[in-house]
Amino acid sequence: MDKNRFFLKAVQDVSRADIPEASRRLLLKGFASALLTAGWAGPMALASRAEAAQAAAAGGAPARILVVGAGVGGATFAKYMKMFSPGADITVLERNPYFTRHYGSSEVLTGAVSMDDLRVDYEGLRQRGIRVLEENVVGLDPDAREVRTASGGRFGYDFLVVSPGIELLYDAVPGYSTAVAETRIPSGWIAGRQTALLRRQLLDMPENGTFVLAAPPNPYRCPPGPYERAALVYEWTRTHKKGARVIVLDPKNDFVTDETMLIGWNHLYEFEPPEPYRTRLKDYLKKPGGATSLFWRRKDEGGAPVAVDPGAMTVTTASGEVVRADVINFIPPMRAARIAAQMGLTDKSGFCPVDRRTFESTVHPGVYVLGDASIADAMPKSGFSANTQAKVTARAITETIAGRPVPEPAWSNTCYALAGDAWGIFVADTFRIVEGKIARTNTRARYQFYTATDGERRAAARYLRSWIRTITLDSFV
Ligand SMILES: Cc1cc2nc3c(=O)[nH]c(=O)nc-3n(C[C@H](O)[C@H](O)[C@H](O)COP(=O)(O)OP(=O)(O)OC[C@H]3O[C@@H](n4cnc5c(N)ncnc54)[C@H](O)[C@@H]3O)c2cc1C
Repeated sequence: MDKNRFFLKAVQDVSRADIPEASRRLLLKGFASALLTAGWAGPMALASRAEAAQAAAAGGAPARILVVGAGVGGATFAKYMKMFSPGADITVLERNPYFTRHYGSSEVLTGAVSMDDLRVDYEGLRQRGIRVLEENVVGLDPDAREVRTASGGRFGYDFLVVSPGIELLYDAVPGYSTAVAETRIPSGWIAGRQTALLRRQLLDMPENGTFVLAAPPNPYRCPPGPYERAALVYEWTRTHKKGARVIVLDPKNDFVTDETMLIGWNHLYEFEPPEPYRTRLKDYLKKPGGATSLFWRRKDEGGAPVAVDPGAMTVTTASGEVVRADVINFIPPMRAARIAAQMGLTDKSGFCPVDRRTFESTVHPGVYVLGDASIADAMPKSGFSANTQAKVTARAITETIAGRPVPEPAWSNTCYALAGDAWGIFVADTFRIVEGKIARTNTRARYQFYTATDGERRAAARYLRSWIRTITLDSFV
């Protein structure tokens, strides 16, 4: 029996023993301080959490569950935790009054949906008995098990779940900055004001104008997302900005869903994929009937975007080419949201290492990190991933509180994307832990069949829109 299990069993034995409640609490505290004296910090946290759990089981104060961030991961976790443990005392701290969903936000650029359509409120969570407070979290005291907020608040917890999303590293790109992103060259990779700005810039773009999308390096949220955005903008320009060019500058040579996206670009926009795609996909491509104005310059072709000049409205690539544009959408490198680093949860990768079974931080016991901020190996940074991770972690914490073993986890992800308004594609994966890491365990093809019919592609576009509705309901209502 390992040390953690030995200790948990001791706590459970004390809790089950026929002794008065006050003495039981003292004994449990005694275990905790003995372990702290021995420098055994992990089980110390376990002691406190087990104590809270046993108090809950004994009809005392319920375990205090604190959640930071009410995006996809945090909201889903709070909802499912409440469903699995109706008595749990759950508080969510979120800095914004409502969530602006990132998924589906590229459709704002074409006017298919409005900024208001992206807005998701927290009434559904509140009606479930979850406390959702508008608080900007600024720090963590792991020893006191307290979170600090900008308003001076201090929130104690037995279990802390953090799902703060990402931070965009504007300053990592010469010429770029937060100020430039907010006024001249938006990224819109965290949906909000910059998404609306990009929409206005596209409306103002002249006919025959040039739109440049600078794609991010790995790892980034929503792997098919930049390419979906480029396709949707290109399709829109063909009716609204005749003769416009769309150029994707890419620090990578490939991306998730690349083959099916490129088949879509080929059929819809006369795009001729570069090698090795052209050979690999030759049976599924049509011969271009005309010239395209959609371009994809990859790393190997020197296309990596390395600098911007907001005055001249240019992007410089790794090969030294200077590309002038009327509208630039620069998606810079990213890492876990700033609060994750402020809480000391990140490693040198900029993301948060976690125990794969539970998503408990390997830095601070009792703190769990979900979604884009976590290091989840083969799982992509997607809303679907954040949602499924949240459910698995809610189950793990529920079982820990009940003193039962945590079940072997399994996760899934489906990322839908559009190559055009009526041309949907997808990647679907299942995951388990293999040799200590989260690995894909698919036994079938991940992507839509290359031979999909037009009807199947239209259906996939409908599935995407219906997924947007269902994931929002599943996470927030
Ligand atoms: C254009 C685009 C398209 C996408 N399309 C898809 C798609 O089709 N399918 C898909 O699965 N995924 C998609 N995604 C990705 C998906 O939206 C994210 O992966 C998902 O939202 C991650 O969830 P999260 O909980 O990690 O972070 P988020 O959903 O970003 O939530 C983080 C929350 O934490 C809050 N927060 C941060 N710091 C603090 C603080 N200090 N104090 C209090 N609150 C704080 C934020 O305000 C936010 O509400 C897309 C993303 C983009 C940009």
